[in-house]
Amino acid sequence: MVTYSYRCRECGDFDVRAPMGRATARCSCPRCGASAARRFTVPLVRRGDPAVWRAVESAERSAERPEVVSGPPPGPGAVRVSRDPRHARLPRP
Ligand SMILES: [Zn+2]
Repeated sequence: MVTYSYRCRECGDFDVRAPMGRATARCSCPRCGASAARRFTVPLVRRGDPAVWRAVESAERSAERPEVVSGPPPGPGAVRVSRDPRHARLPRP
C-alpha cells in the first residue's frame, strides 16, 4: 500500500492509502465529498534528515503564500554584495 496525497479546494489536503499504481487523478474528499485533485509530493523524504524535510515544507508553503520581507535579516557582519550582473537588475528598496 502507498499513501497518495489529494487536495480538496474547501477542506485542504488529505491522504489516501491504495495499492501502488492504483491512484486516480481525482478522489472524493472524505469530509465534504467534493472532487479533489491528486498532489504530487516528494516520496520518502520524511525518513531522511529533518532539516531537509523542514526545507521541503517551507518551499511548499512559500509556493502559495510567499513570505514578504522589508529588509535584510538581522545579524552581525557586513552586507554581502553580489557580483552577479543579473542581481543588479533586481528592484531596490
Ligand atoms: Zn472537502
